Amino acid sequence: MDGKKQRMSARMMNSKVFFFFFLFLLLAAGGCARHENRLMEVTAYCGCGKCCGWERGAWKHLKLDVWNRYVSKGKQEGKKYSGLTASGTKPQKTSPGLLSGDTLAHPWTAPYRLVCPWRWFSEDGTIAADTKYYPFGTRMLVPGYGWGVVTDRGSAIKGPDRIDLYYNSHQDALDWGRKKVKVRIER
Ligand SMILES: [Zn+2]
Repeated sequence: MDGKKQRMSARMMNSKVFFFFFLFLLLAAGGCARHENRLMEVTAYCGCGKCCGWERGAWKHLKLDVWNRYVSKGKQEGKKYSGLTASGTKPQKTSPGLLSGDTLAHPWTAPYRLVCPWRWFSEDGTIAADTKYYPFGTRMLVPGYGWGVVTDRGSAIKGPDRIDLYYNSHQDALDWGRKKVKVRIER
């Protein structure tokens, strides 16, 4: 009676071990499938009129509120420029957290990061991509930029090998220029 019970539980153990092993394999395979590295042509932009195609309300659009921004070309010409991304969010540059390599590389930013609690955690930057290939919400790790998430589109950003990175200043965007880098894409 006792021996039978033991054998039973041993068999249960075996099937349990097998089950977890199977689960592990499934997760491992899933983990591998969930990201992809791709050589991409990466450019940068900021929110300025040159990058985003807007101008201050001018006589051209017969708007008297000269300080407001209007789209200067394309389908939306003459419409108010919101400054938001195509998905309706506020664009932002990627911001690495306090405990990151970036703090080590730029130690003078540590005090600033310490006193601003919202700087403790890393935040994804704004990436513009072709949403046919990368729907809004796709996360990417771009070497030299950091983590970003697709929340924007661009008229020149077409195809699976093109993305545009958001920077806070035009000079930073110019400094990035145009690079071919291996981008890690989380699926
Ligand atoms: Zn710009």
